[in-house]
Amino acid sequence: MQATNEYLHFAERPETLTADWVREFYAGLVTGVPAADAAPDAGAWIALAEEWNALKAYAGGEHSRCSYRFMQDMGDAAAEEVERVVREEIVPACEDGDAALVAALLASPHKAAVAARFGEQLLAVLEVGQGPLAPINSELRVKAGELAKRYDKLISQGEVDVLGETLTLARARGKTSSEDAKTRRAAFEAYYGWFRENRDELAELFDAQVKLRDQMGRNLGFDNFLPLGYAGMARTDYGPAEVARFHSAVREFAAPLFQKLAEDQARALGTPTLRPWDRGFHPERSLPSDVAEPIDEQLDKVGRVFARLSPKLSTHFERMRKEGLIDLENRKGKGAGAFCTSFPDEGRVAIFCNSTGDESDVGTLTHEMGHAFQGWESQWIESVDLQWPTSDGAEVHSMGMEFLSLPFLGEFFTPVQLEAFRKTRWSRAVDIVCYVCVVDAFQQWVYENPAASLDARDAEWMRLQDVYMPGIDWSGEAAPLRATRWYAQLHIYRYPFYYIDYALAETGAMQLALLDAKDHEACLETYLELCRLGGTQSVTKLFAGAGLRSPFDPNVMRDLMAHAATQL
Ligand SMILES: [Zn+2]
Repeated sequence: MQATNEYLHFAERPETLTADWVREFYAGLVTGVPAADAAPDAGAWIALAEEWNALKAYAGGEHSRCSYRFMQDMGDAAAEEVERVVREEIVPACEDGDAALVAALLASPHKAAVAARFGEQLLAVLEVGQGPLAPINSELRVKAGELAKRYDKLISQGEVDVLGETLTLARARGKTSSEDAKTRRAAFEAYYGWFRENRDELAELFDAQVKLRDQMGRNLGFDNFLPLGYAGMARTDYGPAEVARFHSAVREFAAPLFQKLAEDQARALGTPTLRPWDRGFHPERSLPSDVAEPIDEQLDKVGRVFARLSPKLSTHFERMRKEGLIDLENRKGKGAGAFCTSFPDEGRVAIFCNSTGDESDVGTLTHEMGHAFQGWESQWIESVDLQWPTSDGAEVHSMGMEFLSLPFLGEFFTPVQLEAFRKTRWSRAVDIVCYVCVVDAFQQWVYENPAASLDARDAEWMRLQDVYMPGIDWSGEAAPLRATRWYAQLHIYRYPFYYIDYALAETGAMQLALLDAKDHEACLETYLELCRLGGTQSVTKLFAGAGLRSPFDPNVMRDLMAHAATQL
């Protein structure tokens, strides 16, 4: 990361940010509240809110910079210590200060004027964020955090044997898409076999989480955890009833296509039915594992993709390259995964990938750049809380960019490979909406029936899998592994109700692809508008504001799946 001396906020700052400094600054702001409340106009409250926002930008920027540096080299003990201090000391100090100021603002006679100054969505965002941080559940939240950590630890220590080789769970999972039938089956059986062997412990752990979360919901006066779970995702404009409508459209229009794709894949594999261990490999579509090599040419190539796609977006990418805001290549000691982050006090956006030279690099790079484009285009938004949408909105930019870049990926692939890659992306869209609904409908059922037995949960998972993902042959030797998939789904343990966001966003991304096929320039305008809106609107208004149809309109799924069928 290149150093910058140009801070938008707190250009004069302490040498090191400490929790004491943060607490003192917040205390100063809180002290100013009564006078600001009592003032005849909102001027003092707005000035206070400006300072508060600047502090959020500064502390948020420090947090992102430390995490980013630590992820770049997890063996760097000094970076690890700095990151720990920020996470364990500074972030909680900010959370306490924010909680006090949010309560004060929401109770202030000047709250409407503050919202008018920063954006109408601000009050909704702050208000919905209160439930998940309610003091009455403080102790239960700590317990829930411990249970989630136990899950992480169990998974991280998991090791299995695949054809005589001892592998971590993550490596074994990677081999489930091997082109060698024997290897992918062995990897599948070893990976899900591990979850089956540890099923009782994992099921008990989840049961404890369900009971805790149910109690948290009841403590706030709800019938169960659902309303609190939705608030935890900062959803301000839809609830389980709208999502149930989405599920039903997926059952009607996406599940039949899922089944057809499963049959096509079995035909391509030359097997009578599609067995679960063969899902990861498609003979006509999977590309060679070194297809995106050499890695050091990936940025030049994707730079040409963006230059052809949109000169405006291309300038953001070139700036990121110039300023060292893209860490692309996988290397020893680098943290896992891919993400986009921002340093709001600098007004800059960065991405982080782990490219290894295979086809997924291309999708990941365009995905993370989609997030980054939104981040840059949203820089005009002053309120830190409104620069990024909730994840259901944010993933439209990233998944949308995966589709919009498709026509230009000849930079990476031969025409035949590109055709295969394009089909894989469309079939993944069908997979995403169907599998996401299994996860989401499962969680809805779980939290509506918190006293259900461990076996009843497995039975419900299997029932939902059959409804939304028909055409996979789980008979015979596969049968004992049928219920194991959900134990491997981190979100169910760690981020309840997060998962549906991917499916809602995918309906926005596919709509962009449809629009692009009709009118490229109009599509780019829509995309840019969506980027500019950032988090200033709730998700359904974001869709509407950019001219996209609501994900909750059942006809949208019908039209999208009809188009997907023509692409496959
Ligand atoms: Zn994303």
